[in-house]
Amino acid sequence: MLNVPSQSFPGPSSQQRVASGGRSKVPLKQGRSLMDWIRMTKSGKDLTGLKGRLIEVTEEELKKHNKKDDCWICIRGFVYNVSPYMEYHPGGEDELMRAAGSDGTDLFDQVHRWVNYESMLKECLVGRMAVKPAVPKGLLSKTQVTDTLTKEGLNSPSYDWFQTDSSVTIVIYTKQKDISLDSVIVDHQGDSFRAETIIKDYSYLVHIALSHEVEEDFSVRVVENVGKIEIILKKKEHTSWKCLGLPLERHNLLTPKKDAGLYYRKCQLVSKEDVTHDTKLFCLMLPPCTHLQVPIGQHVYLKVTITGTEIVKPYTPVSYSLLSEFQKPVPPNNKYIYFLIKIYPAGLLTPKLDHLQIGDFVSVSGPEGNFKKSKLQELEDLFLVAAGTGFTPMVKILNYALSNVLSLRKLKLMFFNKTEDDIIWRSQLEKLACKDKRFDVEYILSAPTSEWNGKQGQISPALLSEFLKRSVENSRVLLCICGPTPFTEQGIELLHDLCFSKEEIYSFTA
Ligand code: FAD
Ligand code: NAD
Repeated sequence: MLNVPSQSFPGPSSQQRVASGGRSKVPLKQGRSLMDWIRMTKSGKDLTGLKGRLIEVTEEELKKHNKKDDCWICIRGFVYNVSPYMEYHPGGEDELMRAAGSDGTDLFDQVHRWVNYESMLKECLVGRMAVKPAVPKGLLSKTQVTDTLTKEGLNSPSYDWFQTDSSVTIVIYTKQKDISLDSVIVDHQGDSFRAETIIKDYSYLVHIALSHEVEEDFSVRVVENVGKIEIILKKKEHTSWKCLGLPLERHNLLTPKKDAGLYYRKCQLVSKEDVTHDTKLFCLMLPPCTHLQVPIGQHVYLKVTITGTEIVKPYTPVSYSLLSEFQKPVPPNNKYIYFLIKIYPAGLLTPKLDHLQIGDFVSVSGPEGNFKKSKLQELEDLFLVAAGTGFTPMVKILNYALSNVLSLRKLKLMFFNKTEDDIIWRSQLEKLACKDKRFDVEYILSAPTSEWNGKQGQISPALLSEFLKRSVENSRVLLCICGPTPFTEQGIELLHDLCFSKEEIYSFTA
């Protein structure tokens, strides 16, 4: 059972105050945590007031249910009675009431489209909207696609296939030059083949029920200068295929990335190592039938079922170590994903992750996030400002910049933690600083012991201005900041005060 503290939730400095899309979380009453909500949904209470009946809801009917104690919201054509959930909503009642008696899909997508509302609110389901929209949101017709792409200076992607006796090659023509192995995510299970290509802010899907059986493993090649992706499948039987197969959902369609749902695959826990007293390095192995590389600075979602409810939270993959990748780049078809995860004893998901046994499975989504490694090109100074596990996006950035950005003169990490014991990978950071003279790390502790003679306090103008010294005047600089939301928000304000421009700052938020 959770040891739920008695103070208001979340505690004043709890990372639960993380804002989603810039929104702060509000204190919830005691007994109104997510875990309490899950218990409530299992209690057998009639949460819709309809005694388990599902109804068709007209727009007129939906509009009538617009009060706190009688509040219906439509998300993607399904209507939920959210009144019983009001007090449990981490964003607060007012936030939910913004969508009362109406279609809340856009609002929901803006704030937290990754939250698995179907599972969280399944006991609140009233029914479907009576009239379904003709084209599901996000799907664009061929003409719309071409028009949109032309406006953005892009060409419409397409695919083709060819075969030999032993193989079938699916070719995706993205017609973009900045395509690499991390632009395409491939999953095939049984006869279902799915290749999602990320082209700028769009997702292009090749989704087919293959006509014949293929082996589990396959290879992916990218011809970068023409933006061509080749996926080579091995035939199980050396026969000639008349067709590739039957189209599945969203096949051959381009969807704005924000409207393309998250796709999960089950990954197996391979190892779990202590890093600090509360942070562990988890290694998950991708299924053999998956090709997925998480781009630098991006995160994925981990999905775990807790007493029948699917809980989804974001985590940022890291390299196995700060030193190994620096010496020897990871092979491109790497099958492992590493995460540094802090376990919060009273948290909902992390204790569950902590209790996973080697061999257990966790669902992992495709990557999300806006960071592009092109931001690092031509840089002279790179400053990383991290607090606690806000260090995680910095890991791959640090590795990449030191190995690939030839113009780099200086890379500094300013690492805020509560105590010395909380510093993640301290000895690796120090070894790296010895190894590479361009790299330097400084720790700032907010709750040090009396023995600590380094810097102390929280993010402040004095600390930042001392730290952010450029290698040369007007150098090309990037500053990345990540940590608890109040930390990141204060940091951005202070950086603007220190005359860093918007383009020179990248902040990691939900
Ligand atoms: P929660 O249930 O959210 O609880 C967190 C805190 O609130 C704990 O301190 C807990 O003690 C307290 N709390 C819980 N219930 C109560 C209550 N009723 N009353 C008072 N206090 C309570 N984290 C990482 O470790 N590694 C990463 O790589 C990482 N990447 C991230 C990337 C992004 C883009 C974002 C937005 C977050 C990332 N996080 C990462 C944070 C992660 O998503 C989770 O928020 C975190 O793991 C906590 O999850 P939890 O369910 O265990 O805790
Ligand atoms: P923590 O509680 O151990 O705090 C670490 C340091 O952050 C503190 O020593 C302090 O200097 C600073 N800090 C904490 N609260 C502050 C406040 N209210 N104002 C100013 N400074 C403050 O941190 P943690 O438990 O490791 O939490 C890390 C946070 O980073 C989580 O909220 C997590 O969601 C977030 N995170 C975000 C991403 C992302 O990509 N957006 C990635 C990883 C982690």
